[in-house]
This record gives sequence, C-alpha cells and structure tokens, in this order.
Amino acid sequence: MVINDLLRKNIKGFKNYAVNNIDCKYKMDANETPFSLPEMTLDNLRDIVSQANVNRYPDPISKKLKERLAEYCNTIPSKLMVGNGSDELIHLLMCTFVDVGDYVLYPVPSFSMYKVYAQISGANCKEINLQADYSYNIDALIDYNLKYNPKLTFLCTPNNPTGTVISRDDIKKLLDKSNGLVVVDEAYYEFYGLTVVDLVREYNNLVVLRTLSKAYGLAGLRVGYFISNEDIVNCVSLVKPPYNVNSISQEIALSVINSNVLQNRVEYILNERRFLLEELSKIDKIKVFPSNANFILIRIDNANYVYKRLIEFGVLVRNFSNDPMLNNTLRITVGTRETNNYLIKCLKEITL
Ligand code: PMP
Repeated sequence: MVINDLLRKNIKGFKNYAVNNIDCKYKMDANETPFSLPEMTLDNLRDIVSQANVNRYPDPISKKLKERLAEYCNTIPSKLMVGNGSDELIHLLMCTFVDVGDYVLYPVPSFSMYKVYAQISGANCKEINLQADYSYNIDALIDYNLKYNPKLTFLCTPNNPTGTVISRDDIKKLLDKSNGLVVVDEAYYEFYGLTVVDLVREYNNLVVLRTLSKAYGLAGLRVGYFISNEDIVNCVSLVKPPYNVNSISQEIALSVINSNVLQNRVEYILNERRFLLEELSKIDKIKVFPSNANFILIRIDNANYVYKRLIEFGVLVRNFSNDPMLNNTLRITVGTRETNNYLIKCLKEITL
C-alpha cells in the first residue's frame, strides 16, 4: 500500500510551516519576549501546580482564565474562547466555517498560518498583496470581498512580519462590506496599544484574535483567545476539542496576568525597539521598516549571507529574503539591551 495515496486531496504536495530549530545563544527569530516567568509566579509554582489538579481533566471552557481575560479586554466571558495558542483558534475557525472550495482571504506578506490552515481546510485561498511600503490596501480588500465573498478574511495588525497596521476606520469599512467573518489578529496588540475589541458590540462578523505568547511571554504554554460574540463562540464550540488548554497552562496564565508585570515589560521592549531602530538606521547598508510590534523588519543586500554570518556569531533572526515580497529582508525580534547591542555590533562587523 502506498500510504501517500491515502492522503486527502488538498494535503497532497502541501508544505507545512517549517520551524527553524537552529540553536543560538541570542534568539531573535520568533517574536518571543526575553523575560522568564514573573517572580510572584515562580515563588508560587508549587501551589499553582497543585491547584491545577493534573490527575483530573482540565476545565474545558477555561472558566477562571476567561473571566480574568474578559476583565483585561473590557468585555464579558461569554464573548471569549480560549485555545491552545491562537494557532489552534485559527484552525478551529476554519474547521467551523470553511467548506472545501470556500474562499478565504488573507494579506501577504503576513503570518503564514492563515494560508496553512486554509489549505488544510481545502479552502480557495485568495491573497491580498500589501503595498510596496507594506501598508494595507483597503480598496483591494473590499474589492476582493465583493468579488469572492470569502467566509473568512484575516487581517493582522500589527502585521507579522512587517510591523505595519491597518486603521480602525479601514477595518470598519471592511466589516460593513463583508458578508463573511473578519478575523483581526491582534497578537502584538500590547506593543501597539490600539484595539478593535470594542467593535464586537457593533459588528457581529468580527473576531479579534489575541495570544499570551508575545507580550505576556507564555509562548511555551500555548494560550491564545478570541473575543467575538456568543453566536460565534457557540459555533466554534461545536468543533473545539473538549480539553484543548491544559490545566497547568490555565493556572500559570492566570497567575501571570495577576502579577501585573505586563506594563513594565512592554515599556522595556518599546524602549529597546526605539534603541534598535535608531542604531539600525545608523548602519548605511540597512533599510529599516518602522514597527508597531516587538520586532523590526530590515532590508539588506545579500540578506542570506548576513543571516548565515549572524548565526556564526550566535545570533538567530528570521530570514525572509527568499520570499518574493520580502526580498532581502530579515526580521529581528527586540531583545534585552545586551542582546540588542550584540546584534548591532555583529551587523556592523558583517557590513563593514
Ligand atoms: N498570530 C500572529 C500574527 C503571530 O505572529 C503568531 C505567532 N507567531 C500567532 C498568531 C500564533 O501565536 P500562538 O499560537 O503562539 O498564540
């Protein structure tokens, strides 16, 4: 039996997200934060783990965490769903709403999992190119919506990997015109400060996606959530695995949100972002794209070479230089001052 012959049609020839497992001392490739768990959480770890009752299945609706997140988002728990990372929620939204052949619209360049999950679902993928400066083209977004009637349209703001944003007015224009759901991915919200969460009261086709993997520093625990309305939450509940968020993740996430470290940590990263932007701009051969997130996209000649040399120096960044829309670009995650200084020193040496 040729096992590959058993593959679903839309998985044949499919390329999944490739995770780069290169081990480097300075990790600036995955938009994580450099901070470990807050002291308060570390000090209480024994109690937290014991409270998690790991001999029992986890709370299927993450009730306590949802209540706390709802408070954080200025909404109510019934409008929230928690997932095993926001990746899982993207997948669940596709499983809930997208039939084989339905259209799914997403920007490019942007977060690659929209395409991955759309393809797995057998969707007809329609990509909307960002403009040369990586800003959104709202007219194209609306035209494509009217032409294809996508079940789902993804917007990523601030956009990964470009750091650009789409305005609230443009999002409203699209919500007005779209006959499908509009998913606004606010994974990097905390580094930007503006949200459209409040618009879920006004538009029943809006889903706002968030994660604790970035500003909250919990990438390894896999906790994401979305804010929408009860109808959408109920629909997605139809396909959600009952125990999708493990109990230790639920308890630690709760403790980290309660520790109130967020503001200081975000301020630190924003300050370092300013520092990096300034220092990178001083290097002649580098073009820097302004960013509203915790990473910075740069364009540099021979980016493939620079990427490899950085690895030799022990610095891992994300190489997008082979993507036709991101020709010769590298994405650098903002780190600690020590890491940022070291990166700048390496780049200066490489570009001499
Ligand atoms: N959305 C965007 C824009 C991202 O950049 C990421 C992670 N890189 C995610 C969603 C997924 O985050 P997670 O699954 O860790 O919650």
